[in-house]
Amino acid sequence: MMNEYKGNCHCGNVTFSFKHDEIKTGLRCNCSFCIRRGAVMTDFVIPPEELTIHINEKESLGLYEFGNKTAHHFYCKKCGIYPFHQTFRMPDQYRVNLGCIDRINTESLEVSLFEGKKL
Ligand SMILES: [Zn+2]
Repeated sequence: MMNEYKGNCHCGNVTFSFKHDEIKTGLRCNCSFCIRRGAVMTDFVIPPEELTIHINEKESLGLYEFGNKTAHHFYCKKCGIYPFHQTFRMPDQYRVNLGCIDRINTESLEVSLFEGKKL
C-alpha cells in the first residue's frame, strides 16, 4: 500500500511530498559531507517526476556542491535545514531527509550505512 509522505524544512519555506510503501528503513553515509550533516536519508531514490517540491521563496533554496559536483545538496537559506538532494550514484534522482517528515520517527528505523568515505 502506498503512503503519501509530506516533509518540510524547519521554518516551512521548503516542502516536499511523494508516495511510497511504508518506510521502515533509512540510510546514513559517512562521506566527508554527510558525516557532518548527520541526517538519516531514504535508502531508496525518488525520480524527479515523483517528488513534488514547493518553495515559498524560490531564491531561498540554497545549493551546495563539491568534488566533481555530480551531487546537488539543497538547503533552506532561512533555517539551514537540508530537505533533499540529488544523488552522486544516480544523478537527478532524489533522496530526502527523513527527519523532515513528521510521521516518521527516525530513531525507530533500521538504518544502514553507506561507505561514502571510500569514494
Ligand atoms: Zn526553512
